[in-house]
Amino acid sequence: MISLLIEIREGQIKDITYEMLTLAHKLAAAQKQEITSIILSDNCQQYADTIKQYSHKIICVEDPLLANFNTQVYLPVLSNIINDTKPNLFLIASSGFGTDLAPYLAASLNLPLITDIFDLELNPDNMLARRSMYGGKINADIISKSLPAIATVRVGSFEKILASNLLIPNLSAEITKLPFLIDPSILEMSKFIEYGEVPTTGIDITKSDILIAVGRGIKEQKNLAAVEKFAQDIGGTLACTRPIIDAGWLPKDRQVGSSGKTVKPKLYIALGISGAFQHISGMKSSENIIAVNKDPEAPIFSVAHYGVVGDLLKILPLLANRINALKG
Ligand SMILES: Cc1cc2nc3c(=O)[nH]c(=O)nc-3n(C[C@H](O)[C@H](O)[C@H](O)COP(=O)(O)OP(=O)(O)OC[C@H]3O[C@@H](n4cnc5c(N)ncnc54)[C@H](O)[C@@H]3O)c2cc1C
Repeated sequence: MISLLIEIREGQIKDITYEMLTLAHKLAAAQKQEITSIILSDNCQQYADTIKQYSHKIICVEDPLLANFNTQVYLPVLSNIINDTKPNLFLIASSGFGTDLAPYLAASLNLPLITDIFDLELNPDNMLARRSMYGGKINADIISKSLPAIATVRVGSFEKILASNLLIPNLSAEITKLPFLIDPSILEMSKFIEYGEVPTTGIDITKSDILIAVGRGIKEQKNLAAVEKFAQDIGGTLACTRPIIDAGWLPKDRQVGSSGKTVKPKLYIALGISGAFQHISGMKSSENIIAVNKDPEAPIFSVAHYGVVGDLLKILPLLANRINALKG
């Protein structure tokens, strides 16, 4: 049996659930296994109705304390379900929730865990998962020599399942409701308070036709002013890679990539960006990509339509002058 935890946030089933269901169907069809979806919520029925066509079984545990994600509350509930049902494979989203929960679960059940996988092969007594390592520089195949095992699934790695195209069709899950039994002392350990909004600048980079994106090649925060001015001059918007956000030089809503925004402007100018796949996945569909990088081997050149090899701090004023001359 292949089990998965349905990810629900603020009353919505998250898209990653449907991606995990695609993977579960692929594996279950190949191995002739059943799929069990697990719902932890304050209102199971509405979610069960939404996903019952994709699973053989649904296990629900319902309680107001399960309305919002809380690792310490989810942990004993899920541990009991996995202990009782013994799935070959248990899938959890590699989201903020799953990244927190999965290691606790693996440790408490003494099961192997492979995190952030983007592909997976299930065999009768082992599993082979693929994930990237060293900041995306290599992909590694990792084997769990025993089952059951747990895997967290990277968001965006699989297509969302489509009711019109199911590998295992005609499902209508049998729903089992289990009682919510936890040690009340757990509630002393952690409690859900609220969802916080990430501060934004009110600028939506996905709406801009021209994006000027900076990476670590910009070197210092003070150099951003020239890029901002250049962006304004050509009617563009400033965007960036994740290290620029991590350094606190620009707000989070300017980040392009797998953990930022996916953009598709008419023109994307990448300044001092190496082209890690997490960044490329968010901008590769841009209509025209110009990359400036001092390293001729930088991977960004593999997706760029035009490339300039050189120091961005020297090239930027030349570019600005040329554009201003053309405008003039
Ligand atoms: C789970 C996860 C999620 C991630 N999500 C994202 C994401 O959403 N978006 C994202 O961007 N990254 C993301 N990352 C980080 C990603 O792996 C890379 O580390 C990051 O994209 C690298 O950013 P960079 O290109 O600015 O820096 P670097 O990789 O350090 O590249 C800097 C580049 O600048 C060039 N350079 C240096 N000086 C100059 C100069 N003077 N002139 C011209 N070029 C110069 C260098 O040759 C180099 O190619 C994620 C990582 C993980 C693990």
